[in-house]
Amino acid sequence: MGFAMDDTEHALREEIIATCLALDRRGINQGTSGNIGVRWRDGLLITPSGIAYGTMVPEDIIFLAMDGTPSGPHQPSSEWRFHRDILRERRDIGAVVHAHPPYCTAVAIAGKDIPAVHYMIAAAGGSTVRCAPYATFGTQDLSENALRALEGRLCCLLANHGSIACGASLAKAFWLAGELETLAQQYFLSRQLGNPVILPDDEIGRVAEKFKNYGPKSKT
Ligand code: 13P
Ligand code: ZN
Repeated sequence: MGFAMDDTEHALREEIIATCLALDRRGINQGTSGNIGVRWRDGLLITPSGIAYGTMVPEDIIFLAMDGTPSGPHQPSSEWRFHRDILRERRDIGAVVHAHPPYCTAVAIAGKDIPAVHYMIAAAGGSTVRCAPYATFGTQDLSENALRALEGRLCCLLANHGSIACGASLAKAFWLAGELETLAQQYFLSRQLGNPVILPDDEIGRVAEKFKNYGPKSKT
């Protein structure tokens, strides 16, 4: 390619590719579905459009300025608008993972929000995971619908499409993408048994407080 890239940027590009492959292994994404965007300098690094994860090298990742100008050898992901808009509007978010996981997508095809069927929903930032109304992939309408569904939350569903999971770091966004798929699976399965019992908002508030001190102290 011939553009200057320091070690930190190279390592971040490698982490993006490793995360794409991990999403594939976890059954969350496959083929060329889904995409990843990570805040970098005054813009973001984003996966290229329509390129299979297994063939990607660090130079294939695109740098996108906040005005939407791409630099790199390929087109940026067709979903660059929502990656750019989320990272621009939400200073608490450093990384965005978009996927088409089977259970999230099934719930999103039904057009349903996920209610508080499990206490882990507190990791989403509130007592529901909203389903954003349908809009064509890659459009500004989809980006606006997603941003609204993400208000006060770190993840959402996209009707008839998939999921978005965000985090301060790429590791956290990847973790949440997996937790969200598990939650969607639990909701889907519990509905087969009848009416799931929904936890009250105040309980989700208590869990959110406990999460602040949960896990190893060195957790990043
Ligand atoms: P890209 O390959 O353009 O990132 O698109 C995949 C996708 O999931 C579109 O919603
Ligand atoms: Zn998609």
